Amino acid sequence: MNWLPLGDEDPFDRWTLPYGVFVVGGSAPRVGVAVGSWVLDLAPLAGDELFAQPSLNPFLAAGRPVWDAVRARLLSLVTDPRHRELVEPHLIPAADVELRLPFEVADYVDFYASQTHAENVGRLFRPDNPALPAAWRHLPIGYHGRAGTVVVSGTPIVRPSGLRRAGDSVEFGPSLRLDIEAEAGFVVGTPSALGAPVPVGAFEDHVFGMVLVNDWSARDIQAFEYVPLGPFLGKSFATSVSPWVVPLAALSHARVEPPPRSPAVADYLRDEEPWALDVSFEVEWNGTVVSRPPQRSLYWMPAQMLAHLTVNGASVRTGDLYASGTISGPRPGGSGCFLELTWNGAEPVQLTDGARRTFLEDGDTVTLRATAPGPAGSRQRLGEVTGTVAPSPSP
Ligand code: CA
Repeated sequence: MNWLPLGDEDPFDRWTLPYGVFVVGGSAPRVGVAVGSWVLDLAPLAGDELFAQPSLNPFLAAGRPVWDAVRARLLSLVTDPRHRELVEPHLIPAADVELRLPFEVADYVDFYASQTHAENVGRLFRPDNPALPAAWRHLPIGYHGRAGTVVVSGTPIVRPSGLRRAGDSVEFGPSLRLDIEAEAGFVVGTPSALGAPVPVGAFEDHVFGMVLVNDWSARDIQAFEYVPLGPFLGKSFATSVSPWVVPLAALSHARVEPPPRSPAVADYLRDEEPWALDVSFEVEWNGTVVSRPPQRSLYWMPAQMLAHLTVNGASVRTGDLYASGTISGPRPGGSGCFLELTWNGAEPVQLTDGARRTFLEDGDTVTLRATAPGPAGSRQRLGEVTGTVAPSPSP
């Protein structure tokens, strides 16, 4: 029945069908869809200017009826043998393309939706206070990040410099506690109007899909600067995203009930539709898998995050990215950052290459991958985001 041959090791199946932007052989960047180990060149296949674009934004702005129609057509094209002759000329080996940042990032918001992460950070950074901030169970805490430093997977991460505490004094220099944060990112397609909150139930009309996010963090810079206004230079130097945006429609088999919440949430955060996602992350450090953060353990759902960030009347734009915050599961082995994994450097990690690590060293590579339940009991891959640390420029 399926005409397109796929192997177990292929990066994507015939169901996920994520969208990205690629160049091949010096071509102009344009929109493609990943299937198996191929990139489907949509612009000539569909004969549609919507895909002859250097970003997904025009397609994202087209709205859910268009997203649904294109996906339905794609599912038919890659499975029904009658379409083989039409599709085959537009399949490009994935190894031959260069992937670009898939969408123009409008605004970037980062949340703090993992209870385990929030409690661990509280214990490490504020040991004399309750682990969870007072508002944490009432609303998804977040902050506005820096859209202009969101980069595509593979972009080198230059070690940031900044001020940090050194004993009783303060010194300037390259971060000594460079860390990762494994997060789920959500990409807004349909904008909302200023003054018009987006209810929880309108999530699927506004959000197009999901990317994997590594929100690089300099813990020493962060710890010194963050009181009282939150993260600034400790986070803003780089945030990496996976090159393939997985449509929400491809995550339908991964949806599960959210965890119970106490106290009951405010009416504008009540979620009738289950939007917890049973996505399993994997954190690989220089070739060693060091943890497996479970996205389903998050306390706050992406639909609630969108409702919260607009409840005051703030609008969202096409290309807005909002991320879950570090995903850390309650069980050992589920840490989404090295701050927790090594307990702020107190418990080094042994890598299979013989090295021991607490935080990132120059030349280290971290790759995040994720999988989720797919159709008919299958396991679908959701792509990867990788980055290698480059040394700080010499002063
Ligand atoms: Ca973060």
